[in-house]
Amino acid sequence: MKNKDVADILERMGTLLEIKGEIVFKTRAYLKAAETIKYLPEDIETVRKENRLTDIPGIGKALAEKIAEYLDGGVMTAYQELIKEIPEGLLEVVDIPSIGPKKAKLFFEHLNIASVADLRKAVEGEKLQGLAGIQERTIAKIVRGLKIVQEGQARMNLGVATKVAEEFISILRKLPAVKEIAAAGSLRRGCETVRDIDILVDSTRPQEVMDVFVHLPQVKSINAHGETKSSILTKDNVQVDLRVVDSNSFGAALLYFTGSKDFNIKLRQIAIKKEMLVNEYGIFSVSARQEKMLAGKTERDCFAVLGLPFIPPEMREEFGFGELVVDQKIPTLIELSDIQGDLHVHSTWSDGHDTIAQMAQKARELGYQYVAVSDHSPRLRVAGGVSPEDLKKKKKEIDTINKKFEDFYVLFGTEVEIDTQGNLDYNNKILSEFDIVIAAIHRGFDQSPQQLTKRLVKACQNKYVHVIAHPTGIHIGKREPYRFDFKEVCAAAIDHKVFLEINAFPVRLDLNGANVYRARQYGVQFVINTDAHRTDHMDFMRFGVTTARHGWLTKKDVLNTASYDELMKSLKK
Ligand SMILES: [Zn+2]
Ligand SMILES: [Zn+2]
Repeated sequence: MKNKDVADILERMGTLLEIKGEIVFKTRAYLKAAETIKYLPEDIETVRKENRLTDIPGIGKALAEKIAEYLDGGVMTAYQELIKEIPEGLLEVVDIPSIGPKKAKLFFEHLNIASVADLRKAVEGEKLQGLAGIQERTIAKIVRGLKIVQEGQARMNLGVATKVAEEFISILRKLPAVKEIAAAGSLRRGCETVRDIDILVDSTRPQEVMDVFVHLPQVKSINAHGETKSSILTKDNVQVDLRVVDSNSFGAALLYFTGSKDFNIKLRQIAIKKEMLVNEYGIFSVSARQEKMLAGKTERDCFAVLGLPFIPPEMREEFGFGELVVDQKIPTLIELSDIQGDLHVHSTWSDGHDTIAQMAQKARELGYQYVAVSDHSPRLRVAGGVSPEDLKKKKKEIDTINKKFEDFYVLFGTEVEIDTQGNLDYNNKILSEFDIVIAAIHRGFDQSPQQLTKRLVKACQNKYVHVIAHPTGIHIGKREPYRFDFKEVCAAAIDHKVFLEINAFPVRLDLNGANVYRARQYGVQFVINTDAHRTDHMDFMRFGVTTARHGWLTKKDVLNTASYDELMKSLKK
């Protein structure tokens, strides 16, 4: 399946043309075609073989020829010609926050900046100063952007990491030599970002497993190929480490390599008091003259000999230690199957790709009782916010769909803009008509922490607001969270019965695990939403649930674990 490759090259082409300064009409054609092919439900190679490329919406004759050339021979001449003019390295430059195609072009033409490395050098050498339209403020933003990107490249988001890990695990699991296999590390703990992937295998024939692993087609280069440990780099530059251990040590190794480092230190301290030793091979008694292995087969066994209940991987973080040690009560964490609906999805009424009916259909497939179609409000013009007149039509459409179902409900929702003063984008009369009102900040991130706090608190105080969406505004790898008084906003949310969102979209995961943990301690209630802009995105719910588990949430902490009737009661203020 080459859909992703074709989508990638078209997207690169579109962006390079943007930098070149081509007309919007032309560049957008490439970007739209890329998006369509990325989500095409069938194999693009089949479509090509059957000469049906021009049947794909948005693919004209000229584009079809380029795609066919690429699929048949692995090159696209137009692309090769273009990168002679506009270096490929500029694609990464455009991706730096606050640098768009226009600035990339300016830097390239005046300073010959053709890569992120060039840009970094130019910034350090103070070469950007004095360029037309580039002020000190802009440069400061670029410096910050470079830092975020550097950190983002070192760590991938939970969604990407899960996909990579599951791909390797599903292949290796099929090998007869593999008895058990699991991901460890920060991925297993449910961290919102992950540096590299650790996989553990239980096998008595390690060499066999290693040989298959390092020669998989996903592998770009081999860092190490040992008897029990190998390390590779994927084509997307993700490091994957594989360790093989034997059955007697599998649990101990899983415990050890899951971490966190601080958690392992904690376990060692507990072990010392009991005259035991913990390492990746097992738990040993050191009191007798001879070292004796007490546990190692499963994690549960290991915890048990240490006198501990099973602690879920998501709870093995430093931020929860206080509670863990004091009473050792382990809450029953929320599960994906507890989720009864998604309260923040978009439709074609704003910037969503799919209709309300399609989103509802997907929600039903997921076994949900309800979905709230919460489109943007008019002020977010880039996202095609819904005007008050159109809201009436949207409501009518929802009513019609609801008539078809007896046991499923589409809620009339909105993601209303919180403006720079903390006012909402619809008046109270309009707000009162929604089933659910989600308030969100999408602009004015640069304000002072005091101003941002004021905006969020003021939104909570509006009696029609139920939820604050993606409360910190982080965009992993692109934008830092905006700064505000977290405690004060949590207090306002509690006072006014506003739920804070755990946005499950993998580049957001906002609130993150540590923030959820803090907010939960203050007494905040939560909702887990996907912010889906197309039906497929509704599958991101699992990452939101993992994040909730990372913050120690149980079913009762989360609004959308409620049945429809309970939900509607909770939404009445
Ligand atoms: Zn939003
Ligand atoms: Zn949204």
